[in-house]
Amino acid sequence: MQPKNNKQFRLGEGRISGYLSLFLGVLSLFAVVCFLFPEFFTTPEIRKSYPIALFRQILFFTLVLSFSFGLLTFILNKRKRMGVIGMLCSTVAILLGGWQVEIKEFDTGLFYIGLDWAILDLLVLALIFIPLEKVFPKREQQIILRPEWQTDLMYFCIGHFFIQIIALVTITPSSVLFGWLKLETLQSRVSTWPFVLQFFCALLLTDLAQYTMHRFFHLNRVLWRFHAIHHSIKSLDWLAASRLHFIDIFVTRAFGFIPIFVMGFSRNVVVVYVIFIAFQAVLIHSNTNINFGFLKYLFVTPQYHHWHHSDDPKTYNKNFAVHLPLIDFIFGSYYLPGNEWPASYGIQEKLPGGYLRQLLHPFIKKERKGQAMQ
Ligand SMILES: [Zn+2]
Ligand SMILES: [Zn+2]
Repeated sequence: MQPKNNKQFRLGEGRISGYLSLFLGVLSLFAVVCFLFPEFFTTPEIRKSYPIALFRQILFFTLVLSFSFGLLTFILNKRKRMGVIGMLCSTVAILLGGWQVEIKEFDTGLFYIGLDWAILDLLVLALIFIPLEKVFPKREQQIILRPEWQTDLMYFCIGHFFIQIIALVTITPSSVLFGWLKLETLQSRVSTWPFVLQFFCALLLTDLAQYTMHRFFHLNRVLWRFHAIHHSIKSLDWLAASRLHFIDIFVTRAFGFIPIFVMGFSRNVVVVYVIFIAFQAVLIHSNTNINFGFLKYLFVTPQYHHWHHSDDPKTYNKNFAVHLPLIDFIFGSYYLPGNEWPASYGIQEKLPGGYLRQLLHPFIKKERKGQAMQ
């Protein structure tokens, strides 16, 4: 018999159908809101290339699935409340126009929320990483809805909703600090380099910049207060990658953006680089044990970054690089013991739970003696 506190999903319990109905219902409703108010809830840079007809078809299927899973909770007579909320969201989505919702003419507003970016990224990452973590799990006992998943989902949503502000804050410092340098000659030369050379150059230089800042965040007592939020995660998975204090995001990304701005890599390289790092950031936190062979010495993998999150003081201040282990190797912070993985994750310091309390914590925290700093 299974123990009562086992929260693993099992067929027939109604939990899978309940959560799926709720998840798809909420996503469908948000998608319709994006169609209705594109000027406020869609990202100008990405909406230009949207395959609208395909999105309508996907919306139709998510609505059908949300209703089907909602009904299943009634058939199973379990988790009906989640099914009801899921179906309620889908009903509102249909009443607002559903998959046939009309898109009116609109002007781009001054401020927008990246709701479209949040929906698409969440759907794509969930579809890739939930099955991946089930097929190649590092910790088989870790459940999908592990402790604090709601907090990390909140980080994910906020980090996507405010994409405009994050982009502004991370890009502006480079143009202010280096815009006057007249870099056109260098930039036009770099943009003619072969794609692969530009791409690796972008990885190396941005990782060098981020490495420097990341190390500072660990060594400086004030900066550590902000970065400690990221290290407070005790269950690493794809969603855990989102847990970053906004000060951490602003400073580290602004630093990482400097080489991109200065070098003036071609647009294709920047686009592929952004997609690569967005995927790698999620992958390296994921609860997966994929055999990367020799690639694990060239690129940061889950095993490599999991050691950075180890709660064993012996492994503190290791593996700061997020793209290329070579950088840690050069600066003496490389740590990859064969096929071993950390036993557990986190920090000795106790941090509050929940998004808002963690957001405020670095600003109000009082100094205490004997605090661990990784
Ligand atoms: Zn760190
Ligand atoms: Zn991390």
